[in-house]
Amino acid sequence: MAILAAQESDKVVNEVAKEFFKKYKTPKDIADANLEGFQNDLKRINFYRRKAKLLKECCEKLVKFYNGEVPKTVDELVKLPGVGRKTANMVIGGAYNLPAIIVDRHVHRVTQRISLSKQKNPDKMERELMDIVPKEFWTKFSLLLLTHGKTICKAKNPQCDKCVIRDLCAYGSGTND
Ligand code: SF4
Repeated sequence: MAILAAQESDKVVNEVAKEFFKKYKTPKDIADANLEGFQNDLKRINFYRRKAKLLKECCEKLVKFYNGEVPKTVDELVKLPGVGRKTANMVIGGAYNLPAIIVDRHVHRVTQRISLSKQKNPDKMERELMDIVPKEFWTKFSLLLLTHGKTICKAKNPQCDKCVIRDLCAYGSGTND
């Protein structure tokens, strides 16, 4: 689902997931699937042809090298097709509940607005946040900023009047240069 989520809404991904997991219960099920049929099962997802191909290749590697288990380190995860650092950290933090700084577009935007890091490159921002945020809070911090970015600190028209961290935010308090 982390691979399918890029440039797609949570609503569509969650709806597709309901049927998807009834049919595909293990990485082997996906690795063994016919590509055309597999793509057809994902056709509601943006860029479904490419994502389905990457997901199938990813599952083929999981079966071949990891006995069908999803690895628990970023270094191993990023070697899989379709998996960058953001996706790897989503799996580490979201699925395994291990420490992970997840820099998706929401976390990136909020982090810049509250001036914790001004890095444009998400991977560099991740490293800066790893130095700033205590490790035991990495995942919680990421998920809080992600939710804040989706619900309050939106890309267009952030709702600064409802924001609980406005007094910490130069952007929202109007002191941003
Ligand atoms: S004050 Fe506004 S810009 Fe700053 S974090 Fe809150 S919603 Fe975002």
